[in-house]
Amino acid sequence: MVPLPSVFISHGSPMHALQAGAAGTAWAALGRRIGTPQAILIASAHWETQIPLVTGTERPDTIHDFSGFPEPLYKIRYTAPGAPKVAQRALSLLKEAGLTAAIDGCRGLDHGAWAPLLYMYPEASVPVVQISLQPELGTRHHLRLGRALRALEEENVLVIGSGHMTHNLRDWMRGSGAPQPYAQEFSEWVRERLEARDLDALADYRSRSPHGARAHPTDEHFLPLFFAVGAARDDFKPERIFSGIDSGVLSMDAYVFN
Ligand code: ZN
Repeated sequence: MVPLPSVFISHGSPMHALQAGAAGTAWAALGRRIGTPQAILIASAHWETQIPLVTGTERPDTIHDFSGFPEPLYKIRYTAPGAPKVAQRALSLLKEAGLTAAIDGCRGLDHGAWAPLLYMYPEASVPVVQISLQPELGTRHHLRLGRALRALEEENVLVIGSGHMTHNLRDWMRGSGAPQPYAQEFSEWVRERLEARDLDALADYRSRSPHGARAHPTDEHFLPLFFAVGAARDDFKPERIFSGIDSGVLSMDAYVFN
């Protein structure tokens, strides 16, 4: 069996769950292209813990981890089952790689996980396990985390990192409609570094990229990219399946690592 590719998605604002526009069309096409995996293991920027935790519940709840949005958004339920066996398998792989990790028996799925999955797998029939991020441990830790779980792709588990290519909410609230050059320049720099598989430059993006600190005042929305790249083969080929700048500053780029 050919291993599945890993995926990075920029999940957009919670409103994308209701109206994802062109990004939603691209996510849906991606789901059709990949087909039906045994399960999905997804890291979202919205679950941060000290050590990696994986959801172990049979029936993960839909967490509405945002406030001040329109009522219909709170009515959405993504009813995919959990996959306790896949969670256990992920845990043993993490331990084999020397990482301290644990199962979280009650946590559900946050919007960083379920919003794109609503489009990729609208029938919610593929079981989903979510894994947490450790922003204090930085980019290289998340490469290692993805690498530790690479074997899952040979077992027909789809590994996804869900974050954002750029994520400066202060710029976003200042509300400029026209695409800001810095967001485009940063996204292009990332594309070039991915094509060169220059993981060192990417891991040091804050000092080595144009506008890295402005694109990501904090790391957490960029870390899922490292998780997805870590899960890819060493000779991966990045394929940008979607690009676009939302609200002038939020780059929505999505990648498949073949
Ligand atoms: Zn987010």
